[in-house]
Amino acid sequence: MNKSDIQAQAIARAQQFVPRGVSSGHRVGWTQVFDRTAGSYVWDMEGNRYIDYLNAWGPIVLGHCDERVSEAVSRAIRTCDVTGVGPQLYEADVAEIVCGAMPSADKVAFCSSGTDATMHAAHIARAATGRRKLLKFHGSYHGWNDQLAVGSSRVDFSPDAPLNTPNGAGLHPGSVADVVVVEWNDHAGLKAAFAEFGPELAAAFSEPYVHSYGCVPAEPGFLELLRDLCTAEGTILVFDEVKTGFRAALGGYQSVIGVTPDLTAFGKAIANGFSVAGIAGIESLMGHLGAYDGKKATLDGTYNASPYGMAASLATLRVLGDDETIPHLYAMGERLRAGLREAIAAAGVPACVAGLGSEYVVYFREQLPKNFKEAMDVDGDLFARYHAGLLSRGVLEPSFPTGDRRMNAAVTAEDIDYTIEAATASLAEL
Ligand code: PMP
Repeated sequence: MNKSDIQAQAIARAQQFVPRGVSSGHRVGWTQVFDRTAGSYVWDMEGNRYIDYLNAWGPIVLGHCDERVSEAVSRAIRTCDVTGVGPQLYEADVAEIVCGAMPSADKVAFCSSGTDATMHAAHIARAATGRRKLLKFHGSYHGWNDQLAVGSSRVDFSPDAPLNTPNGAGLHPGSVADVVVVEWNDHAGLKAAFAEFGPELAAAFSEPYVHSYGCVPAEPGFLELLRDLCTAEGTILVFDEVKTGFRAALGGYQSVIGVTPDLTAFGKAIANGFSVAGIAGIESLMGHLGAYDGKKATLDGTYNASPYGMAASLATLRVLGDDETIPHLYAMGERLRAGLREAIAAAGVPACVAGLGSEYVVYFREQLPKNFKEAMDVDGDLFARYHAGLLSRGVLEPSFPTGDRRMNAAVTAEDIDYTIEAATASLAEL
């Protein structure tokens, strides 16, 4: 078998047994299959090496197969696998670090995915307020639970199209009816939504810095307005820090911008690749978690706070809490964004660069977008050719134009400079 057949055959074999050959949406359409990772690099089955700017869509923050995490997890595997009785190994240690770092965290409960975390946050908010409706922002993805999988489909952008279209088929119709969707950075629209629905809103969900369609910050005053409206109406403010948590700062992006939510959903970077997520919140709200009495919101899960996940989280958070790791991520992010901006200017291509710390994106449009509709209005053809150029030069990025990219902390200045060269050459070909 020649080398390139190996990957085609692996994909064909997966398609025989798995719908579309993949078990998560954005994995579809690649011709590469990756079978080795280390530090800032991944290798495909043909042995080609790529600098990784996908990083498993967020979780890999320290580096692939980080020794400190692998060592901690293998120790847990050898000494205590899972019990499911009482507090789990390292659970309190991880919770203590999160509570110490995250402004909104008096208590923390663990689950296994960001989807679980936002679902539990919705349950807590409804249990606490006795209200039904949820508010969210157009384009922000909060996972696939029925409560929130609304208003981020990329189907219809005509001016009159409703914002709260379901993201996929099979969602409970009542979920769609109960979600109020507002355009991101639309101050007047947000006020109007609260004026109309305020007393019915159990919670408002927001990414404090949007990564669902690249990198789009809140305009000055927007999150403060959201905070004030929630406080005035008794609506629970939930920050979805699944992407920003532990990566933008140990205490989440809330610790950077100084707007404190009532609840926070987190996941991804907390465990450098192990499936750990959770909900953090103020004491009075977290007290609404209980089990099976019909009055409390339930939190149950075989794998919640598993010793493997907690061991990985503890090791990851200890490193992220040092004086070097997050500053290194910010320095590498700045270096890359500056280099990309120069490369774009030199090539004269209509594109712009956005980002925060280790996260970045190149939008193929003249100006930075301020909401979902603008972010989707990019030159897809230029993007596809740029993406192919990077890939052929050993730089791996998400394959759709609004996917946020990120580096892990194993990345070196040489990796970044190589990436800028690859981008310069790819842009010159457009
Ligand atoms: N919220 C945000 C902001 C996300 O980016 C994601 C995943 N990309 C989720 C929630 C869902 O997390 P998970 O994939 O772990 O269910």
